[in-house]
Amino acid sequence: MSNQNSSWAAWVKKAHYSNKDFGDSLKKTSAIWKQISSYIALYRDLTSVNVGGGDTVSFWHDTWLTKGTLSSLFPALFSHALRLNISVRDCVNNGLWEIPLRYLTSARATCELHDLTLMLNGCHLSPDTSDLRIWRLDHSQPFSVRGVYQLTNFGGILDNASMAVWQSFAPKKCKFFAWLMIKGRIKVRTTLHLQGVIDSDACPFECGNSESVRHLATSCPRAIHIWQSLGLPFQAGCDVHDIFTSVKDLIPSAWLHVWDTVAVTILWNLWLGRNRKVFDNIRYTVPMVVQQCRDTLKLWTVRMTKMEKQAAQLLIESWPD
Ligand SMILES: [Zn+2]
Repeated sequence: MSNQNSSWAAWVKKAHYSNKDFGDSLKKTSAIWKQISSYIALYRDLTSVNVGGGDTVSFWHDTWLTKGTLSSLFPALFSHALRLNISVRDCVNNGLWEIPLRYLTSARATCELHDLTLMLNGCHLSPDTSDLRIWRLDHSQPFSVRGVYQLTNFGGILDNASMAVWQSFAPKKCKFFAWLMIKGRIKVRTTLHLQGVIDSDACPFECGNSESVRHLATSCPRAIHIWQSLGLPFQAGCDVHDIFTSVKDLIPSAWLHVWDTVAVTILWNLWLGRNRKVFDNIRYTVPMVVQQCRDTLKLWTVRMTKMEKQAAQLLIESWPD
């Protein structure tokens, strides 16, 4: 259905959705189409879209503007939507965003509309370009039926980064924290700002940028300084996921056994330092954070075998006082 040149898709739209939005419930439909349409939600969950003209993209239910769908990001506003399955293209009139909504009856919905308007500002459609649907599991791949088949037959999602975190020697709560970080689910200021909880998404270390998960972990000048002080191979601005996967290609083999634990150690202490600044306005210096990383890793070596302990010890000794 996402292929605008498909004659089958054109037929389905004409036969079932001539005066409706794609996804609206149908009174009369064939058993086959009923079966196919039951997969629409799964299809949307598995894909995100680089929007071109916006004809094939659901404004509320596809992932196209942010990491999630707008219906989940702005639930109060969505409850006021007049056309639940409207396409992105149909939300634009003469170059201006016009989202069909009933009269807003809650302050939260009004706030959400304000946030959404800010997000849509500067977002323009390209009517001559096709929408491109991408696998959310592998951003390098376009969506394909073959990919879905492989996924459904695999029976699970293999995520090397998550596995690395769970296999580390960190305590459970820190593993859970690192896993949330990989998933981008930490309550950093950009998230809280989007939810209307705080007024500004600015980094608490006043570097002039927004505080996203990636910023906190690898992009903030403070984080970069800390990684570099520890003498670890590190690409500024890389994804948290990469720390547990591709970065392993850059480290000495002697570190491999303890790398996942080291990575959780650093992310955990970056987070503790950040919280100290946010909640107590106390700013740990970079040498203080390095010292805390050293202490934390030393503590966690209790769970390690002799070989891993030695590798961790060597790393700890290489860190500056
Ligand atoms: Zn910053």
